[in-house]
Amino acid sequence: MPSDHRLKLTNTLTRTKEDFVPEDANNVRMYVCGPTVYDYAHIGNARPVVVFDVLNRLLRHLYGADHVTYVRNITDVDDKINARALRDYPSLALNEAIARVTQKTADQFHADVKALGCMEPDFEPRATQHIAGMIEMINTLISRGHAYQVAGEVLFDTASMPAYGELSRRNLEDQKAGARVAVDAHKKSPGDFVLWKLSSGDEPGWDSPWGRGRPGWHIECSVMSAHHLGPVFDIHGGGLDLIFPHHENEIAQSCCAHGTKLMAHYWLHNGFLQVEGEKMSKSLGNFITLHDLLETEKVGGRKWPGMAIRLVLLMTQYRQPLDFTEKALEEAEGLLEKWDDLLARAGVTATAGAEPATEFLEAMVDDLNTPRALAVLHGLARAARGGDTASAQALADALAFLGFDLADVRRAVDAGRPAAADPALAARVDALIAERNAAREAKDWGEADRIRDLLAAEGVVLKDTKDKATGLVETSWEMAQ
Ligand code: AMP
Ligand code: ZN
Repeated sequence: MPSDHRLKLTNTLTRTKEDFVPEDANNVRMYVCGPTVYDYAHIGNARPVVVFDVLNRLLRHLYGADHVTYVRNITDVDDKINARALRDYPSLALNEAIARVTQKTADQFHADVKALGCMEPDFEPRATQHIAGMIEMINTLISRGHAYQVAGEVLFDTASMPAYGELSRRNLEDQKAGARVAVDAHKKSPGDFVLWKLSSGDEPGWDSPWGRGRPGWHIECSVMSAHHLGPVFDIHGGGLDLIFPHHENEIAQSCCAHGTKLMAHYWLHNGFLQVEGEKMSKSLGNFITLHDLLETEKVGGRKWPGMAIRLVLLMTQYRQPLDFTEKALEEAEGLLEKWDDLLARAGVTATAGAEPATEFLEAMVDDLNTPRALAVLHGLARAARGGDTASAQALADALAFLGFDLADVRRAVDAGRPAAADPALAARVDALIAERNAAREAKDWGEADRIRDLLAAEGVVLKDTKDKATGLVETSWEMAQ
């Protein structure tokens, strides 16, 4: 490990904070359950995406970018997708309608999480690309006595696995079937779950030894993770609600099919997000999608920069419950703006791949303690304001490390500033900036200053930012407060 900072992570499997020791430091492997693509991702769905993006960045820093494999799947087989396809495209053949729903939703998801500054995972398998692998794994489970066929379904036999329930610490006796599985009399035990079920004529289906059908949800992740990461890997992540039944059942399938004791060494779960102190739900009218925040004026009558959303999600440590509020969004945006101004004044930009400040990294390796890491950034900002350029540089580097693109905040703020409503003024300012640039190129500093003062008298403040890489100066402007 090039960096000597010790990463500690809270493992749901042991309920303790443990030293992270990968199986192979040359290939640290992480799988995170991705979206089921039938509707816009909501702000709660964004939490695991951002949290595990930050962990991915931290792992890449600690082990080297070429030594980490991050897989996040797309679930594109699900009965909710079928229902949505029938609703939205009633005149199309079902398979065509499903393809439209999944493509549109996946595209929207990618655009949303990109706006939140998330890197793409190394692999993003789709369930429909892995049906053959699922059939193979189900076959193995049947032949090893861990699954049975009954009433048009293949079910996992939970009683066949003595260790079943280890992750969620539920006893077989008090296990209730998960929300996505109907409790039926044909099951040997109520917790037995669907591996494969038959499809009717127009439902999506694939030929299998058990007839034309489709896979259950859990088997998808067991197969896609093994395909890219092997039967046992380092980290498996997702939201708290996935511990049971989804992750419990992934473990059951994978361990029984591969004959391993473990599926993943470290199971990480993010806490739940609420909105303005209440559980988010469509019926309460407080259901917020990323699309609502980024592209509509539904929240607070305005659009929000993706970076402000990212910062709100990181102001709370990932395992804690998070209250998402409009006030927090405003604060996050204001903070990023302030930091951006400070860095512009100090004339620093982030250096790619820089080693971040020790205190900052210490907070990050302590189970991703982002609130503590952000407190370090406040300290750096204070020192930078006092004229310490090294602190300004450290602030810029740490922000980049966390995936913040300050130019994005600047663009969003500029787009939202009052003067933007006055296109004539904006055009005039832009023209004067161009004139000033020409004057500067001709080294006519007097003329350049005259234009700056002229605009200042009208309440327009210019700000020059030098791009370190290209040496080019970019000028932005805003109305004086
Ligand atoms: P789903 O599409 O429901 O399977 O959820 C996708 C991911 O979002 C899973 O990792 C969930 O655990 C997570 N998730 C869903 N709702 C919330 C929430 N309110 N807060 C935090 N994470 C959530
Ligand atoms: Zn999964």
